[in-house]
Amino acid sequence: MSIKLIQHAAIGSEKTLSSEKHILFVLEGKTERNFPFAKILERKLQRTRGEYKDLNKTPIVIELPDGGVASFVMLGENLSIFQKHTLLRKAVKPLLDEQPEALAICVFGDGAAREANACAAYYVATVNAAELPSRKKDNKAKPLKEISIHGFKAEHDYSYVNARVAGNTLCRSLTMLPPNELTPTIYREKLKTLAKQYGWAWEEFDMPALKKMGAGAFYAVGQGSEPQDAAIVHLTYSPKEARKHIALVGKGICFDTGGHNLKPAKYMQGMHEDMNGSAVSLGILTAATLQKLPVKLDCWLAIAQNHISPLAYKQNDVVTTLNGMTIEVVHTDAEGRMVLADTLTLASRQKPDAILDYATLTGSMAVAVTDRMSGVIANRPELACKAIGAGAAAGERIVAFPYEEDMDSDLDSDIADIKQCTMEGGGDHMHAARFMGKFIENDVAWLHADLSSTNRKDGLGAVQSDVNGFGVGFGLEMINRLIGD
Ligand SMILES: [Zn+2]
Repeated sequence: MSIKLIQHAAIGSEKTLSSEKHILFVLEGKTERNFPFAKILERKLQRTRGEYKDLNKTPIVIELPDGGVASFVMLGENLSIFQKHTLLRKAVKPLLDEQPEALAICVFGDGAAREANACAAYYVATVNAAELPSRKKDNKAKPLKEISIHGFKAEHDYSYVNARVAGNTLCRSLTMLPPNELTPTIYREKLKTLAKQYGWAWEEFDMPALKKMGAGAFYAVGQGSEPQDAAIVHLTYSPKEARKHIALVGKGICFDTGGHNLKPAKYMQGMHEDMNGSAVSLGILTAATLQKLPVKLDCWLAIAQNHISPLAYKQNDVVTTLNGMTIEVVHTDAEGRMVLADTLTLASRQKPDAILDYATLTGSMAVAVTDRMSGVIANRPELACKAIGAGAAAGERIVAFPYEEDMDSDLDSDIADIKQCTMEGGGDHMHAARFMGKFIENDVAWLHADLSSTNRKDGLGAVQSDVNGFGVGFGLEMINRLIGD
């Protein structure tokens, strides 16, 4: 459901704002303290022995005389986008918790800062007001119907922000679906429907097709499921005036048991979210389409499940991949790099300007950077540098890891061209990247994002829900920067 937007160039007075029930005040360090309800805020600060400048760290909520509620936050100039998003999320949460019908946002600051604050506040408010899957019997959605922005009138209608929210929300919604509601069969149907809705070209490589093509790495993972409904889905957004050609690749494991090297319950919990990389790719594709970005996007989604069964692949199997290399299977739980190997080959054969892949791939990345940020590895150092900048601009923090050839010796196999992984696991995120890089043809520039921050308890940055859609904003920013090159 879309939210109606009303823009007022002026902040207004306590009187004109008195009809608003929920107000978010986005202040700046230099804001003079004569804004509406400043006196009530002052009294609360006195009562709690707080200081005005602490609004830079902790938002403050006050009850208004006419029964409304206001939340105050201050976005200092020196804060990062991530910090600003986090503060805005904390400030808007108590307001959205009341499931309001309308939300007023009052923004302060001069010139560009005011516009940036308005856009950030609008993004954080709408992304957290979005409706997400719930299977509770009593769940009755009370959607936010209207946002009014006071103090800034933009020359745009925030549709580019709405596009990012739509992409993020699609990503989260798919990721949250329980695994019995998002099997590969169901997922593929949904993708077909989305392709029609957004006008994307659609093609699919199902298991018989992949077998015929010789995509043995993907096939090895898909063969353990009944029905064998795994597939590589290929969606294309191709506007007339495309300035670049970029491939998005996503890992879409709808449930990961670990396979024969079975995960214990504690680590299998939540493994329906192992398709998040594909949902991030799809979220980026959706947002880019809505924003009408001048870029051709080929989106390759590796959709499968990782099961145990008599047919499932096992340790020491040797499989032949689409590009002819042989892989010695070492650990069936390292299925992500298997399905991505052949998918990356397919993507690279079209010789795009760059490939961006998204995958919840390794535990070692989460150990390295925690669930607060995600890591990237690129076969071009400049691409990794660009990713750090894009992440910072999007409020989604990115850490770059090296891609060094001498690590390849750890993957030497006695029987095949390469080992799938090591048994020890140390530095697995870097080994995984070295492994996957072997399957990229035509020396295409490639950035791999190992998403360790897709689910963080009580939210991350702009987003309040545990599943946060991390990567959609970063990916969009990345594409914009690549278009601009
Ligand atoms: Zn796995």
